[in-house]
Amino acid sequence: MQIDTATDGHVHTFLCHHARGTMEEYVEAALGRGLRRIIFLEHLEAGITYFEPTWLSEEDFAFYHAEGLRLQAKYQGRIEIGLGVEAGYNPRKRQEIAAFLGRRRWDRIGLSYHFLEIGGRHYNVVSKRQENLEALAAAGVEKVVDAYLAGVLEAVTSLPGDVVCHLDAVLRHLPDVRFTEGHHRQIEEILGAVRRRNMALEVNTSGFPLRGEPFPAVPLIARAVEQGIPLAAGSDAHRPEDVGRHFDRLAALH
Ligand SMILES: [Zn+2]
Ligand SMILES: [Zn+2]
Repeated sequence: MQIDTATDGHVHTFLCHHARGTMEEYVEAALGRGLRRIIFLEHLEAGITYFEPTWLSEEDFAFYHAEGLRLQAKYQGRIEIGLGVEAGYNPRKRQEIAAFLGRRRWDRIGLSYHFLEIGGRHYNVVSKRQENLEALAAAGVEKVVDAYLAGVLEAVTSLPGDVVCHLDAVLRHLPDVRFTEGHHRQIEEILGAVRRRNMALEVNTSGFPLRGEPFPAVPLIARAVEQGIPLAAGSDAHRPEDVGRHFDRLAALH
């Protein structure tokens, strides 16, 4: 697979409230793995009603940028450090998200869709928490996947972005989620939009421990490659020891 495994393009830190480790600990972990570049891709969400924030506040982002600049200077010549953002889509807050993204310079903007609204509340489609899984299963798996993919397409076509994150990770903690023909058509549309907008597709290695292959699944990665879409490796590390996880397995994928 044509993919740069010397760059981990997707890591989090304690700043998002559901990961652990300081930014510097992630940089040290990347150095330990022999990486050439690490890109922080911290969580941005807007207008989400959830029992806890799993994203950064304005103040968190201010600290994030200041600390990132300090680390870039400190580690100059040893490793490249990128400051990016994983922008979670919310169809009701598109303008707010775009405005936020426009206020700073980002080394990478990843687009994701984490929170689906059901009955005035939001449920996280990539979470393993029981209350998310129960509410989403009750709403109907097929419908949830449908709404998720429609949202990703909207995000790709309406927000600035460099890479689409963990494309098929929706309901990753529910067993036996099957994508229908219709879902595959939606994914084709998303890939078409990704290509037209010169974005990359993330190959997210957090899938390996869960299902033995990355997000998205290998056939979808192959479809992207056929269309000339570049790939970007990301561990989605939420603890320093996961930086660059399973990158050795990417080279073996076809
Ligand atoms: Zn996270
Ligand atoms: Zn994500």
